[in-house]
Amino acid sequence: MSDISFSLTEYYKNFGIEDSVYKLGEEVLNECSDRFKDIDRISELNQIKVLKAFCDNKVSEACLLGTSGYGYNDLGRETLEKVYASVFKTEDAIVRPQITCGTHALSLALSANLRPGDELLSPVGKPYDTLEEVIGIRESKGSLKEYGISYRQVDLLKDDKFDLEGIKQAINDRTKLVTIQRSKGYQTRKSFSVKEIAELIKFIKDVNPGLKVMVDNCYGEFTDVCEPSEFGADMTVGSLIKNPGGGLAPIGGYIVGTKECIENIAYRLTSPGLGREVGASLDTLKSFYQGLFLSPTVSASALKGAIFAAGIYEKLGFECVPGFKGERNDIIQAVAFHDPNKLITFCEAIQAASPIDSFVNPEPWDMPGYDSKVIMAAGTFVSGASIELSADGPLREPYAAYFQGGITWPHVKIGILNTVQALKNKGLIDIK
Ligand SMILES: *Cc1c(COP(=O)(O)O)cnc(C)c1O
Repeated sequence: MSDISFSLTEYYKNFGIEDSVYKLGEEVLNECSDRFKDIDRISELNQIKVLKAFCDNKVSEACLLGTSGYGYNDLGRETLEKVYASVFKTEDAIVRPQITCGTHALSLALSANLRPGDELLSPVGKPYDTLEEVIGIRESKGSLKEYGISYRQVDLLKDDKFDLEGIKQAINDRTKLVTIQRSKGYQTRKSFSVKEIAELIKFIKDVNPGLKVMVDNCYGEFTDVCEPSEFGADMTVGSLIKNPGGGLAPIGGYIVGTKECIENIAYRLTSPGLGREVGASLDTLKSFYQGLFLSPTVSASALKGAIFAAGIYEKLGFECVPGFKGERNDIIQAVAFHDPNKLITFCEAIQAASPIDSFVNPEPWDMPGYDSKVIMAAGTFVSGASIELSADGPLREPYAAYFQGGITWPHVKIGILNTVQALKNKGLIDIK
């Protein structure tokens, strides 16, 4: 055992990571063991859940083959959608490579289930940046606002609690759909637990049982033993280049939910009259199946990495959301640097510890959909896939790095240690 420790520190040194940084990592790791055990149990449960869904739906070798052209009678696509519905315990699901990303999946779910004159309500404050343009909070071509769909928002109370009284008052005759975002996105609020979301859904349905509820589940999948879809959400939505794609899916999004909502979405995704019957899966199916199968352990690796990062950066005196001991409801770790230089150094070091494009230096740029410059590190196999080790942050106060992903736990650990080393090399932190 001592030999392995010795060689390990040698390998780290070879990677540019000094003993003092490695030792800091080991100290934090010692405090992680109970949390890591819990995470392993959650991933074990989710692995059973996913395997059972494969078995129950008789996934066969033929399902891994794709179709081309119109894609009629695509056995693999139809079975995959049944597998998703089983895993998320919903009536139906739509899972397609034609859904280009998470924003598209959310936009689709909203536009397919709202009509002119309807109102959308967010009872959890401002939604994810890219959704602002989908909704029309920021002027944008093709927004829901252009189609006469209005929007209302109820902010969270000071302690990140739901403003139940405010929500009740905001619901009116025009309110048709309520959107709940599980993950914090680019905010420093906490991410909501499935239990909290379940309580909010119940509250909303008690006020008006006719309201549809959509949950933006991005980054939350398989971090808990259950999903929001099990607690009355009419639609639960996510991206396949995040958790459920397991690092293998090259594109895609999913929506799981009621038959009615999914049917509306299918007609919006392709065309009225055609719906879900078309949409060739090309060569994507094997990666969708295998990625979903790996997702419980991949998501667990990312979760461990997030906790490890919080442990290290709290020790170094930075505010972390969630905190090291805090509850986890997604794979995102925010570290507030309050300094553009530190944020940029952090992202550069993540890029430098990536398998692809490690030699490239990321620079802040005006990304479509975001309202300030963003720096992004994503040296990933699937371009921009944030289930792989990646970091990003908008260049605005609090200059927070949003760190996520890592399809293997050792890789996340190396990445985080590399960020500490880079900050130390530039004299931006002190390590005793
Ligand atoms: C990533 C994310 C989205 C958008 O997904 P993209 O695939 O980047 O378009 C939406 N909501 C939340 C909470 C997210 O984390």
